[in-house]
Amino acid sequence: VANRRIESVEDEVKSFITVTPEVALERARRIDERLADGGEVALHEGVPLVVKDVLSTKGTRTTCGSRMLEEFVPVYDATALARFSEDLVMVGKANMDEFAMGSSTENSAYFPTRNPWALDRVPGGSSGGSAAAVAAGEGWWALGTDTGGSVRQPAAFCGTVGLKPTYGRVSRYGLIAFASSLDQIGPMTRDVRDSALLLQAIAGHDRRDSTSARQPVPDYVAALEEGVSGLRVGVVTELTGAEGVEPEVREVSERTVRDLEAAGASVGEVSLPHATYGLPAYYIIAPAELSSNLARFDGVRYGLRVPAEGVHEMYRRTREEGFGDEAKRRIMLGTYALSSGYYDAYYAQAQKVRTRIIEDFRAAFSEYDVLVTPTCPTPAFGIGEKVDDPLAMYANDICAVPASLAGIPAISIPGGTVDGLPVGVQLMADHFEESKLLRAARAAE
Ligand code: GLN
Repeated sequence: VANRRIESVEDEVKSFITVTPEVALERARRIDERLADGGEVALHEGVPLVVKDVLSTKGTRTTCGSRMLEEFVPVYDATALARFSEDLVMVGKANMDEFAMGSSTENSAYFPTRNPWALDRVPGGSSGGSAAAVAAGEGWWALGTDTGGSVRQPAAFCGTVGLKPTYGRVSRYGLIAFASSLDQIGPMTRDVRDSALLLQAIAGHDRRDSTSARQPVPDYVAALEEGVSGLRVGVVTELTGAEGVEPEVREVSERTVRDLEAAGASVGEVSLPHATYGLPAYYIIAPAELSSNLARFDGVRYGLRVPAEGVHEMYRRTREEGFGDEAKRRIMLGTYALSSGYYDAYYAQAQKVRTRIIEDFRAAFSEYDVLVTPTCPTPAFGIGEKVDDPLAMYANDICAVPASLAGIPAISIPGGTVDGLPVGVQLMADHFEESKLLRAARAAE
């Protein structure tokens, strides 16, 4: 069904860099065989999955949305995928902003993806292909990655559910690194129950990722129906009223808060005094880390090599041709912020802000179980509208980045529509409190 749906809508939506109908059918056949032989098959295994093209898939090209990796075929699967199933029913590799840098999927080196709700709008980013595919029915659910909102923001723009787990909850092994202290793989689904199911299938400790947590994985699905009676819900003043948040968008999140209250939660206002400084701090820390992570694309180790006289000229031409404008911009920003003489003024300062934000959350979670904000200031913007204005593009992430910097779990659920376009509401909880987060999200969806 997913393959047929891809055939009928993909020309318009363009969710995928690579479609893999044969892989999906062959793996589905293997699952059928396992069943016929009386073998074990988990509930989630037969469900067609869309995989963001930043996750390594053995034998299937993994481009990361970049010319640099146009021909790159990994020799192993990301742990999250291997854990999901040995017979992964993968329908395709989803389009994304190059190396996951962006909020619209327009930074893909290949083509922009369109929002299935309005084809002249962006689907969000960087996991825009994954969100669009789920919204358009080109797969049942998807995996995206979230460094500073890239699962939550596209989910919000496409009217779907996007969950960024606690940093360390899901192994990053086989996830091509952007900003290693922030990157997390997360489920992108049609509803909250699927989000719990998919998280269950990918979470857990992995000895191949030293930052993956040893914490046991609870039964997320069982926790869902516990309801929110007695749960303390805090509305974050600074983010709900942040610059650029449209009044209609604020109303949608206020409505969600009222729904939670009606379902038995107690509601109050809470302050995260440093939350809005998250945006400038993120746009120092993320480029700093990526400038180092992207150093490995040198024409020697992976992917593209542009031959030239001498090794330095080869490096230069490979990186010149392999990276797009946004990648180059951020490599320059990041190296600058890390360079001696500027390190203290930028990188060290941003790290101090990050600590303040962590402390703000700690204080808030001593009084509240779940915090609520809009996911984004506006509904999906037009294709081309912000592509030449990096600061306007970055400003879209204001509500999403604080949770990333603090490493806490956060989910975006559809809250309603404004002018016929979906609007997301973000819920956040303390480290490893995904059960609580999903429970609240379930009651609010
Ligand atoms: N939009 C943010 C950025 O451009 C977040 C990206 C992400 O989470 N991968 O960096």
